[in-house]
Amino acid sequence: MECASEDVLARAEAAYLGLALGDALGATVEFMTPREIAHHFAHAGGVHREITGGGWLRLKPGQVTDDTGMALALGEAILAHDGKVSSLACARAFDAWMRRKPVDIGNTVRRNLLLFRRTGYPTAPPSEHDAGNGAAMRVLPVALAMLHRSEFELREACRMQAHVTHNNPVSDAASEFIALAVRDMVRGDSLREVYRRRIQPLVDEQPAFAFRGKPRRQNPSGWIVETMQAVLQSLVEVGGFENCLVDVVNRGGDADTTGAITGMLAGAMYGRSALPARWLKALDPEVYLRCCQQARQLASSTP
Ligand code: MN
Ligand code: MN
Repeated sequence: MECASEDVLARAEAAYLGLALGDALGATVEFMTPREIAHHFAHAGGVHREITGGGWLRLKPGQVTDDTGMALALGEAILAHDGKVSSLACARAFDAWMRRKPVDIGNTVRRNLLLFRRTGYPTAPPSEHDAGNGAAMRVLPVALAMLHRSEFELREACRMQAHVTHNNPVSDAASEFIALAVRDMVRGDSLREVYRRRIQPLVDEQPAFAFRGKPRRQNPSGWIVETMQAVLQSLVEVGGFENCLVDVVNRGGDADTTGAITGMLAGAMYGRSALPARWLKALDPEVYLRCCQQARQLASSTP
């Protein structure tokens, strides 16, 4: 058993808090267009940059949505199974989460969890239509639980959790990329290294994800391709944790989910000290605590 260093644990924690912060920040402007955001936040220079709740879900300030909720459910299931990822444990955890009447839930997630309830079979049927971002947004605990395992094992575990609701190769490419990139950065790699080892190969293998030299991706939908274009443009082209997150959520569209995914990547990359104190203060205190605890437990459970 390798003992994770404090640096690694702090970056794991920053990734988990980054996910929750991006979700809470983005949810306020989910499904708005950049024009609507600029108009609505005219009093603040036309930019949304505070965690204030509201939005179409009428959230309390600091409240998170399904992105963080499903990640926490997945993380608990992994910890309850000694750091192992199993389809059935994931399906049961997501189903129990759905029964707790979450504030929001994706269509593909709901449809395939209802199918699991009927059949007891934890893997969704393959579907070319199920290329939403719902599996990618919750993948973080898998990356943290498998910090020192082989790339093959990590990819396999990513697909196991993803296929409970999204059995789709484009969704898989994104989920596996996110898990590998977060893991590299939690272990200390720079954006430069992650670009060469993960981002460039992702775009080479799945040209739909190309984002460099493309027009700014505005109004990214829940389709994983548009989600990832927005996330990667903000992550690669904007410097600093706060700027990155503000940039991505002000694109509007599926802003809580682009915020959540950018937040986990930028959190791992910029570290715990880069998370704005005023955002951490605004975050739901119970969510804050659960993210910190799970991050440390998952990252130190890795054999
Ligand atoms: Mn959400
Ligand atoms: Mn969303």
